[in-house]
Amino acid sequence: MNGLMMQHPLQIADILCHAERWHADSEIVSRNPEGGIHRYTYRDAARRARQAANVLTALGVSPQDRVATLAWNTHRHYELYYAVSGSGAILHTINPRLFPEQIVYILNHAEDRVLFIDAQFLPLIEAVCEQLKFLEHIVVLAPEAAMPDTPLGVQSYEALLADAPDTYDWPALDEDSAASLCYTSGTTGHPKGVLYSHRSTVLHAWACTGRDVLNVGNDRTLLPVVPMFHVNAWGVPYSATMAGAKLVLPGAGMDGASLYELIEGEQVDMLLGVPTVWLGLLQYCEKENLKLNPVRDVVIGGSAAPLSMIRDFDEKHDAFVIHAWGMTELSPVGTVNNNSRLMQQLPRAERYALQTKQGRPVFGVEMKIVDDQGQELPHDGKAWGRLLVRGPWIARGYYKHEDCSAWENGWFDTGDVATIDPHGLMQIVDRSKDVIKSGGEWISSIDLENCAMGHPAVAECAVIGVPHPKWDERPVLLVVLKEGQTATDTDLLDYLSGHVAKWQLPDKVLFVNELPHTPTGKLLKRALREAYQNLLME
Ligand code: AMP
Repeated sequence: MNGLMMQHPLQIADILCHAERWHADSEIVSRNPEGGIHRYTYRDAARRARQAANVLTALGVSPQDRVATLAWNTHRHYELYYAVSGSGAILHTINPRLFPEQIVYILNHAEDRVLFIDAQFLPLIEAVCEQLKFLEHIVVLAPEAAMPDTPLGVQSYEALLADAPDTYDWPALDEDSAASLCYTSGTTGHPKGVLYSHRSTVLHAWACTGRDVLNVGNDRTLLPVVPMFHVNAWGVPYSATMAGAKLVLPGAGMDGASLYELIEGEQVDMLLGVPTVWLGLLQYCEKENLKLNPVRDVVIGGSAAPLSMIRDFDEKHDAFVIHAWGMTELSPVGTVNNNSRLMQQLPRAERYALQTKQGRPVFGVEMKIVDDQGQELPHDGKAWGRLLVRGPWIARGYYKHEDCSAWENGWFDTGDVATIDPHGLMQIVDRSKDVIKSGGEWISSIDLENCAMGHPAVAECAVIGVPHPKWDERPVLLVVLKEGQTATDTDLLDYLSGHVAKWQLPDKVLFVNELPHTPTGKLLKRALREAYQNLLME
């Protein structure tokens, strides 16, 4: 016997309709790429999203066509999140930090017909436009008066919107139909497309609002610094809207000064982003002797949050770090380490250590660690294994791609190696390809980085496994020092030896001016491994 409940498909447009109806006056504040701060409400955003949907129709966009964006976190980009998916087309957000050849590849692979672009990124397209086989229209996200000079045939978003009617009936869509597309910048081969559905997007956003997840409520003010061109800014444009929270969008201003100005000016109480962004903000605050007064929570994911960052946010800014783990294939949120009964009982130092773990799975994500034979490993906090997941917002394949090697028996192999402790807290040990194999033992590069970051002179660091004639691989530590600080390799090794076993100590410490990052802000360890492959071979 079936239950007697209504069948109502989950649809992205309904999220904005809900905010318009019930949270109409909540604000969205956005730093305009052309200068100035833009401020409006969910009521205005919903009206402009309907206008944008009419623009799509006028441009000839049909259901399930791919519509690309190359844009910062702004109110215009936000409107497209709803206009494109809500009208039945597929929003394809492109990361402008990808190499030009990757941008060409994914625009062609997705067969994008229309591109909405911030003026700053136009040169990327000017350089490759002849290779773009499917692109018919380019719309610059700017008013007519701020349109840039370009040899490309382009139209102004604001001009198109001004001419578009503000009534539009969002179509009833199959909840399983595709809504958005995001390519992962894999370290080998072409980027692979993850195709989210309306259902997966709504469920994921819904889960994220939860008290023990990101705790997104109507009384909160969120600043997603995580870009809207990477995994839908962790779903924040949806979850904030669901809750009618105030949303603050930083545009192109990711530097410490610009972020601080927005945080103070808009009284932001929740920050979301990758560790490298917070390094910049924390350094800025330290230099200028500033406190992040309104901030209550800092959600950190994308790479491991170092203990020193967790401590700095707490001790200097009274802000609690919510460590989260996820990936593009997971929409992206998989686990969250929010304040728990366990944490509240611990003295600060022990709590910080616990916060370096990536936390428990959100309801909806099933998770296990397995050995090389696929046997499940115990939750003892010690056994390391491949981290497998499954659930309704986890990809079951890549878009137009045959490689399904990451899936086994309905589980997705994340490529991460992790432990799970008796409290159910998962901790990422490493990407499986970054674990350092030394004389039959494994060393976690993340562990060593975490320790080295605690040294007061270290701004950023990376640990890589370098081939060694006797031990197979040995760790090498690369360090960027904070401005005006000095330290020697012996200082760092002495410091580390207080925290890790002797056999895990790096064989060498190298000081560098900067470290390479991937387009999504992670350390590019492959490049480092290549550069230093012969370092220990003499
Ligand atoms: P992406 O799909 O580009 O978002 O990258 C996902 C990968 O980032 C994961 O598989 C992890 O290796 C890494 N990652 C994400 N969050 C964390 C975290 N909190 N700690 C350590 N690694 C993380």
